[in-house]
Amino acid sequence: SSTLLFYCRPGFENDVRQEWSGRYSEDGRWESGDGYALLHLQQTPPPEALDAANWIFARQVLSVLGQVKLGERDRLSPILALLDTLPAGQRGPWSAAWLEHPDSDAGKPLSGFCRRFTPILEKALGERGLLLDNAKAPRLHLFFTALDQAWIATTDPRHASPWPLGVPRVRMPSEAPSRSTLKLAEAFMTLVPDADDRLKPGMVGVDLGAAPGGWTYQLVARGLKVFAIDNGPMKGNMAIHPHVKHLREDGFRFRPQHPVDWLVCDMVEQPVRIAKLIADWFVQGQTRHAVFNLKLPMKKRWLEIERCFGLIEGALDEAGLRYTLCAKQLYHDREEITCYLALTRSEQARRRRR
Ligand code: SAM
Repeated sequence: SSTLLFYCRPGFENDVRQEWSGRYSEDGRWESGDGYALLHLQQTPPPEALDAANWIFARQVLSVLGQVKLGERDRLSPILALLDTLPAGQRGPWSAAWLEHPDSDAGKPLSGFCRRFTPILEKALGERGLLLDNAKAPRLHLFFTALDQAWIATTDPRHASPWPLGVPRVRMPSEAPSRSTLKLAEAFMTLVPDADDRLKPGMVGVDLGAAPGGWTYQLVARGLKVFAIDNGPMKGNMAIHPHVKHLREDGFRFRPQHPVDWLVCDMVEQPVRIAKLIADWFVQGQTRHAVFNLKLPMKKRWLEIERCFGLIEGALDEAGLRYTLCAKQLYHDREEITCYLALTRSEQARRRRR
């Protein structure tokens, strides 16, 4: 038997569960609290289930090693005692020890304690030879659900989110006209492999639903020229920037005269309409990469995602295109997810030769 621990946005624990059921036939017993869910399985989960990049609603996926009750005075001994009881293959050494907590109202006050306790635990682990200077070694996680209660778990850093709590730190750029700029910044960090390679000065992008310009800012900051499509006004520097062409047009109608490198889309619309629109840009050969949001205010979010992905995959498959499609509910996403769709490198080379 085994237990998996998922970190997620508070309120989306059931979406993690729906996502699991949508992907795997085996089910187990679920437990959840604000910002996390646990799945107790009879069998060993398939390895890809432990890869955080494969999940939309889970920020991190961990293998649980045990649960500890902690005393008020001595928190260290029960942890070390539990680690001692683990079978040889699970007892370390570890590349790091992360102390974490749910991203919830109840969990956030635990962050100060986690910060203070980290060097104490690291010292104890170090003295026992349990910390290795090898980034590939498993990582130890202590997930505190209260000051006196923690799940002890592990991840493989090669397949885990590289950020504590599964949340990347994104700095708010002072020149960006809206906070939603953080979403696209986070999407580039989380979803786009080799983002620095795929977003280069001189490339051209289209931003559908661009106003006031937070997403446009991210493209411009990377040196792209941007067609910003919105009936509303662009603000600040994005209203006057020489690399931004603001067109007051309908985002569902606008198409570029020449193919562009990037399409980004943050229009508040029915997800199915967005999915069809994005798919059509690819089928028409009008872009190579896209980042788009699907707003999911409905209850059955997983069903809606499957419907949208089915539409996109159906259209691109029929057009004979090779592509990658992935998605995540980012830290800055509320009732929505952010998706990345791109032609594979070989498909892009094939199109250039035509
Ligand atoms: N990404 C923007 C940013 O970072 O500043 C925020 C976009 S806001 C969530 C959605 C925008 O989509 C609104 O400015 C709205 O005017 C625009 N929009 C909605 N439907 C549209 C349509 N059919 N055509 C063009 N723009 C549309």
